[in-house]
Amino acid sequence: MSGAPLPGAAPAAGGGARIIDGKAVAAALRAEIARRVAALPFRPGLRVVRVGEDPASVVYVRTKDRAALAAGFDSATLVLPAETSEAELLATVARLNADPAVDGILVQLPLPPQIRSAAVIEAIDPAKDVDGFHPLNAGRLASGRTDGLIPCTPKGVMHLLRHAGVPLAGARALVLGRSQIVGRPMAQLLLAADCTVTIAHSRTRDLPAECRRAEILVVAAGRAEMVRGDWIAPGAAVIDVGMNRLPDGRLTGDVAFAEARAVAGWITPAPGGVGPMTVACLLENTLEAALARRG
Ligand code: NAP
Repeated sequence: MSGAPLPGAAPAAGGGARIIDGKAVAAALRAEIARRVAALPFRPGLRVVRVGEDPASVVYVRTKDRAALAAGFDSATLVLPAETSEAELLATVARLNADPAVDGILVQLPLPPQIRSAAVIEAIDPAKDVDGFHPLNAGRLASGRTDGLIPCTPKGVMHLLRHAGVPLAGARALVLGRSQIVGRPMAQLLLAADCTVTIAHSRTRDLPAECRRAEILVVAAGRAEMVRGDWIAPGAAVIDVGMNRLPDGRLTGDVAFAEARAVAGWITPAPGGVGPMTVACLLENTLEAALARRG
Protein backbone atom coordinates (compact mmCIF):
# COMPACT_ATOMS: atom_id res chain seq x y z
CA MET A 1 0.00 0.00 0.00
CA SER A 2 1.41 3.43 -0.87
CA GLY A 3 1.46 6.18 1.74
CA ALA A 4 -1.04 8.28 -0.26
CA PRO A 5 -4.32 9.00 1.50
CA LEU A 6 -7.28 6.94 0.31
CA PRO A 7 -9.78 8.82 -1.84
CA GLY A 8 -12.29 10.78 0.20
CA ALA A 9 -10.41 10.12 3.40
CA ALA A 10 -7.75 12.78 3.75
CA PRO A 11 -6.18 13.18 7.19
CA ALA A 12 -7.04 16.34 9.10
CA ALA A 13 -4.88 19.37 8.41
CA GLY A 14 -1.86 19.43 10.69
CA GLY A 15 -1.60 15.62 10.75
CA GLY A 16 -3.39 13.13 12.91
CA ALA A 17 -6.89 11.78 12.62
CA ARG A 18 -10.05 13.66 13.40
CA ILE A 19 -11.41 12.26 16.64
CA ILE A 20 -15.03 11.14 16.42
CA ASP A 21 -16.46 12.09 19.81
CA GLY A 22 -19.00 9.38 20.57
CA LYS A 23 -19.95 10.94 23.89
CA ALA A 24 -20.97 14.19 22.22
CA VAL A 25 -22.83 12.52 19.34
CA ALA A 26 -24.62 10.22 21.81
CA ALA A 27 -25.57 13.15 24.07
CA ALA A 28 -27.11 14.97 21.11
CA LEU A 29 -29.03 11.85 20.04
CA ARG A 30 -30.29 11.25 23.58
CA ALA A 31 -31.42 14.88 23.86
CA GLU A 32 -33.33 14.57 20.57
CA ILE A 33 -34.97 11.34 21.77
CA ALA A 34 -35.93 13.01 25.07
CA ARG A 35 -37.59 15.85 23.12
CA ARG A 36 -39.55 13.35 21.02
CA VAL A 37 -40.59 11.36 24.11
CA ALA A 38 -41.72 14.54 25.91
CA ALA A 39 -44.10 15.25 23.00
CA LEU A 40 -45.77 11.81 23.23
CA PRO A 41 -49.04 11.17 25.10
CA PHE A 42 -47.43 8.07 26.72
CA ARG A 43 -44.05 7.04 28.12
CA PRO A 44 -42.29 4.30 26.15
CA GLY A 45 -41.71 1.32 28.43
CA LEU A 46 -38.32 -0.43 28.65
CA ARG A 47 -37.57 -3.48 30.79
CA VAL A 48 -33.98 -4.66 31.15
CA VAL A 49 -33.52 -8.13 32.62
CA ARG A 50 -30.26 -9.02 34.33
CA VAL A 51 -29.56 -12.54 35.57
CA GLY A 52 -26.78 -12.78 38.17
CA GLU A 53 -24.14 -10.31 39.24
CA ASP A 54 -21.59 -10.28 36.40
CA PRO A 55 -19.76 -7.01 37.23
CA ALA A 56 -19.69 -5.69 33.64
CA SER A 57 -23.40 -6.48 33.22
CA VAL A 58 -24.23 -4.67 36.47
CA VAL A 59 -22.54 -1.52 35.10
CA TYR A 60 -24.04 -1.81 31.59
CA VAL A 61 -27.58 -2.36 32.89
CA ARG A 62 -27.34 0.53 35.34
CA THR A 63 -26.09 2.82 32.56
CA LYS A 64 -28.95 1.81 30.24
CA ASP A 65 -31.60 2.24 32.95
CA ARG A 66 -30.32 5.70 33.97
CA ALA A 67 -30.16 6.86 30.34
CA ALA A 68 -33.70 5.61 29.71
CA LEU A 69 -35.09 7.36 32.79
CA ALA A 70 -33.23 10.58 31.90
CA ALA A 71 -34.83 10.51 28.43
CA GLY A 72 -38.31 10.23 29.98
CA PHE A 73 -38.91 6.51 29.44
CA ASP A 74 -40.80 4.29 31.85
CA SER A 75 -37.74 2.13 32.58
CA ALA A 76 -37.13 -0.61 35.12
CA THR A 77 -34.57 -3.33 35.68
CA LEU A 78 -35.55 -6.83 36.73
CA VAL A 79 -32.74 -8.61 38.59
CA LEU A 80 -32.95 -12.39 38.79
CA PRO A 81 -30.58 -14.59 40.82
CA ALA A 82 -27.64 -16.31 39.08
CA GLU A 83 -29.25 -19.74 39.66
CA THR A 84 -32.43 -18.80 37.74
CA SER A 85 -33.49 -21.64 35.42
CA GLU A 86 -34.11 -21.21 31.69
CA ALA A 87 -37.82 -21.94 32.29
CA GLU A 88 -38.03 -19.20 34.92
CA LEU A 89 -36.36 -16.66 32.63
CA LEU A 90 -38.64 -17.68 29.75
CA ALA A 91 -41.64 -17.13 32.04
CA THR A 92 -40.39 -13.62 32.83
CA VAL A 93 -39.96 -12.89 29.11
CA ALA A 94 -43.48 -14.21 28.41
CA ARG A 95 -44.90 -11.91 31.09
CA LEU A 96 -43.11 -8.89 29.58
CA ASN A 97 -44.24 -9.90 26.07
CA ALA A 98 -47.85 -9.84 27.30
CA ASP A 99 -47.57 -6.53 29.20
CA PRO A 100 -49.04 -3.72 27.04
CA ALA A 101 -47.04 -1.07 28.95
CA VAL A 102 -43.76 -2.68 27.84
CA ASP A 103 -42.44 -1.58 24.44
CA GLY A 104 -38.88 -2.87 24.71
CA ILE A 105 -37.34 -5.93 26.35
CA LEU A 106 -33.60 -6.38 26.73
CA VAL A 107 -32.10 -9.45 28.36
CA GLN A 108 -28.51 -8.58 29.23
CA LEU A 109 -25.93 -11.03 27.91
CA PRO A 110 -23.99 -13.10 28.84
CA LEU A 111 -26.41 -15.40 30.65
CA PRO A 112 -25.37 -18.04 33.22
CA PRO A 113 -24.38 -21.40 31.64
CA GLN A 114 -27.64 -23.21 32.52
CA ILE A 115 -29.58 -20.82 30.24
CA ARG A 116 -29.40 -21.01 26.44
CA SER A 117 -29.13 -17.43 25.15
CA ALA A 118 -30.62 -18.40 21.78
CA ALA A 119 -33.75 -19.83 23.42
CA VAL A 120 -34.28 -16.63 25.39
CA ILE A 121 -33.63 -14.32 22.44
CA GLU A 122 -36.09 -16.31 20.31
CA ALA A 123 -38.74 -16.05 23.05
CA ILE A 124 -38.75 -12.24 23.00
CA ASP A 125 -41.59 -10.71 20.97
CA PRO A 126 -39.77 -9.49 17.81
CA ALA A 127 -41.74 -6.22 18.03
CA LYS A 128 -40.22 -5.61 21.50
CA ASP A 129 -36.74 -6.92 20.66
CA VAL A 130 -34.85 -3.63 21.17
CA ASP A 131 -31.47 -5.42 21.00
CA GLY A 132 -32.36 -6.55 17.47
CA PHE A 133 -31.01 -10.05 18.09
CA HIS A 134 -34.20 -12.07 17.37
CA PRO A 135 -33.73 -14.20 14.23
CA LEU A 136 -36.69 -12.42 12.60
CA ASN A 137 -35.04 -9.01 13.04
CA ALA A 138 -31.59 -10.38 12.13
CA GLY A 139 -33.12 -11.97 9.02
CA ARG A 140 -34.82 -8.74 8.00
CA LEU A 141 -31.48 -6.94 8.21
CA ALA A 142 -29.71 -9.75 6.34
CA SER A 143 -32.28 -9.41 3.55
CA GLY A 144 -31.36 -5.75 3.18
CA ARG A 145 -34.11 -4.10 5.23
CA THR A 146 -32.78 -1.41 7.54
CA ASP A 147 -36.17 -0.14 8.75
CA GLY A 148 -36.59 -2.68 11.58
CA LEU A 149 -35.01 -3.13 15.00
CA ILE A 150 -31.25 -3.13 14.40
CA PRO A 151 -28.59 -4.16 16.92
CA CYS A 152 -27.58 -1.09 18.93
CA THR A 153 -23.79 -1.16 18.60
CA PRO A 154 -23.55 -1.38 14.79
CA LYS A 155 -26.44 1.07 14.49
CA GLY A 156 -24.42 3.47 16.65
CA VAL A 157 -21.36 2.99 14.44
CA MET A 158 -23.39 4.01 11.37
CA HIS A 159 -24.53 7.16 13.20
CA LEU A 160 -20.88 8.00 13.96
CA LEU A 161 -19.71 7.43 10.38
CA ARG A 162 -22.53 9.58 9.01
CA HIS A 163 -22.02 12.28 11.63
CA ALA A 164 -18.30 12.46 10.78
CA GLY A 165 -19.08 12.71 7.06
CA VAL A 166 -17.11 9.60 6.13
CA PRO A 167 -17.89 8.77 2.48
CA LEU A 168 -19.73 5.42 2.45
CA ALA A 169 -20.99 4.62 -1.07
CA GLY A 170 -18.37 2.59 -2.89
CA ALA A 171 -15.90 2.65 0.03
CA ARG A 172 -13.92 -0.48 0.88
CA ALA A 173 -14.99 -1.43 4.41
CA LEU A 174 -13.52 -4.17 6.56
CA VAL A 175 -15.29 -5.46 9.65
CA LEU A 176 -12.96 -7.32 11.99
CA GLY A 177 -15.19 -9.77 13.90
CA ARG A 178 -18.20 -11.86 12.87
CA SER A 179 -20.33 -12.05 16.02
CA GLN A 180 -24.12 -11.94 15.87
CA ILE A 181 -24.04 -8.89 18.14
CA VAL A 182 -21.56 -6.69 16.31
CA GLY A 183 -19.63 -8.02 13.30
CA ARG A 184 -22.39 -9.56 11.17
CA PRO A 185 -25.02 -6.81 11.56
CA MET A 186 -22.24 -4.22 11.11
CA ALA A 187 -21.32 -5.76 7.76
CA GLN A 188 -24.99 -5.81 6.71
CA LEU A 189 -25.42 -2.13 7.54
CA LEU A 190 -22.28 -1.12 5.65
CA LEU A 191 -23.45 -3.18 2.68
CA ALA A 192 -26.84 -1.47 2.83
CA ALA A 193 -24.93 1.85 2.73
CA ASP A 194 -23.28 0.69 -0.53
CA CYS A 195 -19.84 -0.07 0.90
CA THR A 196 -17.81 -2.95 -0.53
CA VAL A 197 -17.59 -5.10 2.56
CA THR A 198 -15.08 -7.68 3.78
CA ILE A 199 -15.61 -9.59 7.03
CA ALA A 200 -12.42 -10.75 8.77
CA HIS A 201 -12.12 -13.14 11.72
CA SER A 202 -9.68 -15.37 13.57
CA ARG A 203 -9.11 -17.59 10.50
CA THR A 204 -8.43 -14.71 8.10
CA ARG A 205 -5.05 -15.01 6.33
CA ASP A 206 -2.72 -11.99 6.57
CA LEU A 207 -5.07 -9.83 8.61
CA PRO A 208 -2.78 -6.75 8.60
CA ALA A 209 -2.79 -6.75 4.78
CA GLU A 210 -6.60 -7.09 4.68
CA CYS A 211 -6.94 -4.19 7.13
CA ARG A 212 -4.56 -1.99 5.10
CA ARG A 213 -6.90 -2.23 2.10
CA ALA A 214 -9.81 -0.74 4.05
CA GLU A 215 -11.01 2.83 3.79
CA ILE A 216 -13.38 2.09 6.68
CA LEU A 217 -12.09 -0.27 9.38
CA VAL A 218 -14.52 -1.37 12.09
CA VAL A 219 -12.78 -3.44 14.75
CA ALA A 220 -14.79 -5.72 17.05
CA ALA A 221 -12.47 -8.56 18.01
CA GLY A 222 -12.22 -8.18 21.78
CA ARG A 223 -8.38 -8.17 21.73
CA ALA A 224 -6.73 -5.23 23.47
CA GLU A 225 -4.85 -2.98 21.02
CA MET A 226 -4.35 -5.74 18.43
CA VAL A 227 -4.74 -3.37 15.46
CA ARG A 228 -1.46 -1.49 15.09
CA GLY A 229 -0.71 1.75 13.27
CA ASP A 230 0.92 -0.06 10.33
CA TRP A 231 -2.31 -2.07 9.73
CA ILE A 232 -4.12 1.13 8.80
CA ALA A 233 -4.30 2.86 5.42
CA PRO A 234 -3.47 6.56 5.54
CA GLY A 235 -6.71 8.50 5.78
CA ALA A 236 -8.91 5.53 6.74
CA ALA A 237 -11.84 5.84 9.15
CA VAL A 238 -11.12 3.61 12.15
CA ILE A 239 -14.00 2.67 14.44
CA ASP A 240 -12.93 0.83 17.58
CA VAL A 241 -15.79 -1.21 19.06
CA GLY A 242 -13.54 -3.16 21.44
CA MET A 243 -13.79 -2.75 25.18
CA ASN A 244 -11.11 -4.62 27.10
CA ARG A 245 -10.03 -4.37 30.72
CA LEU A 246 -6.25 -4.45 31.16
CA PRO A 247 -4.62 -6.15 34.19
CA ASP A 248 -4.05 -2.69 35.74
CA GLY A 249 -7.81 -2.02 35.55
CA ARG A 250 -7.73 0.45 32.65
CA LEU A 251 -10.21 0.09 29.79
CA THR A 252 -8.88 0.02 26.25
CA GLY A 253 -10.13 -0.72 22.77
CA ASP A 254 -8.97 -3.17 20.10
CA VAL A 255 -6.90 -0.48 18.33
CA ALA A 256 -3.53 0.91 19.44
CA PHE A 257 -4.94 4.44 19.58
CA ALA A 258 -1.79 6.62 19.54
CA GLU A 259 -0.26 4.73 16.59
CA ALA A 260 -3.53 4.59 14.67
CA ARG A 261 -4.32 8.24 15.24
CA ALA A 262 -1.10 9.26 13.49
CA VAL A 263 -2.17 7.45 10.28
CA ALA A 264 -5.98 7.43 10.15
CA GLY A 265 -8.27 10.12 8.78
CA TRP A 266 -10.89 9.61 11.49
CA ILE A 267 -10.77 7.56 14.66
CA THR A 268 -13.01 6.83 17.64
CA PRO A 269 -11.51 6.74 21.12
CA ALA A 270 -12.27 3.74 23.33
CA PRO A 271 -13.76 4.35 25.79
CA GLY A 272 -15.75 7.40 24.69
CA GLY A 273 -16.48 6.35 21.12
CA VAL A 274 -18.87 3.53 20.30
CA GLY A 275 -19.97 2.65 23.86
CA PRO A 276 -22.11 5.76 24.48
CA MET A 277 -23.72 5.28 21.06
CA THR A 278 -24.83 1.75 21.99
CA VAL A 279 -26.84 3.17 24.89
CA ALA A 280 -28.29 6.01 22.80
CA CYS A 281 -29.34 3.55 20.08
CA LEU A 282 -31.08 1.37 22.67
CA LEU A 283 -33.23 4.39 23.48
CA GLU A 284 -33.78 5.05 19.78
CA ASN A 285 -34.86 1.42 19.23
CA THR A 286 -37.20 1.55 22.23
CA LEU A 287 -38.82 4.73 20.94
CA GLU A 288 -39.16 3.20 17.45
CA ALA A 289 -40.65 0.01 18.92
CA ALA A 290 -43.12 2.06 20.97
CA LEU A 291 -44.21 4.13 17.97
CA ALA A 292 -44.59 1.03 15.78
CA ARG A 293 -46.58 -0.88 18.44
CA ARG A 294 -48.83 1.96 19.50
CA GLY A 295 -49.36 3.43 16.05
P1 NAP B 1 -17.02 -11.99 20.15
O1 NAP B 1 -18.37 -12.60 20.08
O2 NAP B 1 -15.98 -12.59 21.03
O3 NAP B 1 -16.45 -11.96 18.65
C1 NAP B 1 -15.14 -11.59 18.39
C2 NAP B 1 -14.86 -11.74 16.92
O4 NAP B 1 -13.51 -11.34 16.68
C3 NAP B 1 -14.99 -13.18 16.41
O5 NAP B 1 -15.62 -13.19 15.16
C4 NAP B 1 -13.54 -13.65 16.31
O6 NAP B 1 -13.30 -14.54 15.24
C5 NAP B 1 -12.80 -12.37 16.03
N1 NAP B 1 -11.44 -12.43 16.57
C6 NAP B 1 -11.08 -12.66 17.85
N2 NAP B 1 -9.74 -12.68 17.96
C7 NAP B 1 -9.25 -12.46 16.72
C8 NAP B 1 -7.94 -12.38 16.19
N3 NAP B 1 -6.84 -12.52 16.96
N4 NAP B 1 -7.81 -12.16 14.87
C9 NAP B 1 -8.89 -12.01 14.08
N5 NAP B 1 -10.16 -12.08 14.53
C10 NAP B 1 -10.34 -12.30 15.84
O7 NAP B 1 -17.09 -10.46 20.55
P2 NAP B 1 -18.24 -9.34 20.30
O8 NAP B 1 -19.38 -9.59 21.21
O9 NAP B 1 -18.47 -9.16 18.86
O10 NAP B 1 -17.46 -8.05 20.86
C11 NAP B 1 -16.25 -7.63 20.29
C12 NAP B 1 -15.66 -6.51 21.14
O11 NAP B 1 -16.54 -5.42 21.15
C13 NAP B 1 -15.43 -6.87 22.61
O12 NAP B 1 -14.28 -6.18 23.08
C14 NAP B 1 -16.66 -6.33 23.30
O13 NAP B 1 -16.41 -6.01 24.66
C15 NAP B 1 -16.88 -5.08 22.49
N6 NAP B 1 -18.26 -4.61 22.49
C16 NAP B 1 -18.44 -3.28 22.74
C17 NAP B 1 -19.70 -2.77 22.71
C18 NAP B 1 -19.88 -1.32 22.93
O14 NAP B 1 -20.98 -0.86 23.11
N7 NAP B 1 -18.79 -0.54 22.93
C19 NAP B 1 -20.80 -3.57 22.43
C20 NAP B 1 -20.60 -4.92 22.14
C21 NAP B 1 -19.31 -5.42 22.17
P3 NAP B 1 -13.95 -16.03 15.17
O15 NAP B 1 -15.39 -15.83 14.80
O16 NAP B 1 -13.17 -16.71 14.11
O17 NAP B 1 -13.77 -16.63 16.54
